[in-house]
Amino acid sequence: MTTRNASKLAACTAAGQTPRPRLHLPSVDRLLATRDVGALVARFGRTATLDAVRASLADARAAALDRGAELPEEAVLIGRSAATLERLFAPSLRPVHNCTGTVLHTNLGRALLPADAAEAVARVLTQATNLEFDLEKGGRGERDDHVEALICRLTGAEAATIVNNNAAAVLLVLAALTAGREVVISRGELVEIGGAFRVPDVMAQAGCILREVGTTNRTHLRDYRGAIHAGTAAVMKVHQSNFRIEGFTTEVSDADIGALCRDAGVLMLDDLGSGNLLDLAAYGLPPEPTVAEAVKHADVVTFSGDKLLGGVQCGLIAGRKDLVAAIRSHPLKRALRVDKMTFAAMEAVLRLYLDPDRLRERLPTLRLLTRPQAEIRALAERTAPVIAAALGEAARVEVVDCNSQIGSGALPVETLPSAGVALSAPDRHGTGSASRGGRFVQDMADRLRALPVPVLGRVRNNQLLLDVRTLEDESAFVAQWAFNP
Ligand SMILES: *Cc1c(COP(=O)(O)O)cnc(C)c1O
Repeated sequence: MTTRNASKLAACTAAGQTPRPRLHLPSVDRLLATRDVGALVARFGRTATLDAVRASLADARAAALDRGAELPEEAVLIGRSAATLERLFAPSLRPVHNCTGTVLHTNLGRALLPADAAEAVARVLTQATNLEFDLEKGGRGERDDHVEALICRLTGAEAATIVNNNAAAVLLVLAALTAGREVVISRGELVEIGGAFRVPDVMAQAGCILREVGTTNRTHLRDYRGAIHAGTAAVMKVHQSNFRIEGFTTEVSDADIGALCRDAGVLMLDDLGSGNLLDLAAYGLPPEPTVAEAVKHADVVTFSGDKLLGGVQCGLIAGRKDLVAAIRSHPLKRALRVDKMTFAAMEAVLRLYLDPDRLRERLPTLRLLTRPQAEIRALAERTAPVIAAALGEAARVEVVDCNSQIGSGALPVETLPSAGVALSAPDRHGTGSASRGGRFVQDMADRLRALPVPVLGRVRNNQLLLDVRTLEDESAFVAQWAFNP
């Protein structure tokens, strides 16, 4: 606080009044009349600017009173108001460069939508649509009509519907078809996926009774058979998405469970998780059960729209017509239904599958999964010098081979040969201790996250590894290193 302000404060206090350093701060009106604040009003609007200016003044006043801080200059107050407004108006959800190598990264939004599909979404968002209007009959339509025929064609199912996500799909299927009765499930399939999705909890919420059979590693057909009785609604299979049990294991084939269920007159439900529409082996990828195979045995199959399928967040339910009808008319369906943007995106993505020959180049998920290692390495070799130039002495930069993950519970064990740019502590620190390496990685990760489009890598042996399998926009990535992080 300046001497003048301090003495004035002292005088006020001595006179038994509340200290009022406010007198020495500019008024709101005075600040609003300045050119700089005028520019903020033009950019951010009067209401938000006024709030920001008032907040800067209040903060300065409080700092003076509480801590005896010096009253800031006018320019400082305006600068703080501008910074507040910048933060308020900066988009929170924004693009990043995914250099984790994980193709379906749940924290980074899973599948990337093809540009055509994104355009289809934009079209239906800004105009009225026939979402629930039958243009042929001229009456009320069903929103599922936009995707049902495509899903059926691609999976062989009789009927299909979509809801908010696969967790919702499982919840709805169980609530509509099994509430109040028992659902038999193998102990090895009582999985937890991504924290909040735990099969026993979902079953409890759906109001059905979990009947565990078998053991963690081995479940036999006789276990299922022995558990089915008059109060049984269904046998459920759950794909062991994010782990694998190896060694002395037994699980019963879908065909055998399906036959058992038909004989016993109970339903067979199959939660595929990722649920893919293609024979991945044909693309040189590790095999993963297809929806078409599952539909042959199960009465109802559920899977995600934004995992291997490569669309947007939703859960697909495919199966017997009468069962899908019962699912559709359950009250929870309304609570879990999806918006027109989901239909627009999924319709466009599913249609791409009608032309498998060109799917690889059109569907980003498949393109990234099948990206040849030589191409990834060439990309790493083009970007490494740019990164090295930007970081200078701050890091050792080298091109390395590595392994990418598929992610989102698809093929949890298998990895894909990839390449990337490894950043490690520069040699001048000597070989360095593990803790120094850890600190380097942390600091470097912080720096890369602060870039205009944040760059997210992964940590590997005291290195920050930028696995470029999942790097989509090379020119934007390269351009921003000029900001010299
Ligand atoms: C991923 C997964 C889910 C949850 O799907 P979301 O689309 O994330 O809700 C459920 N079951 C299995 C087996 C999964 O792999």
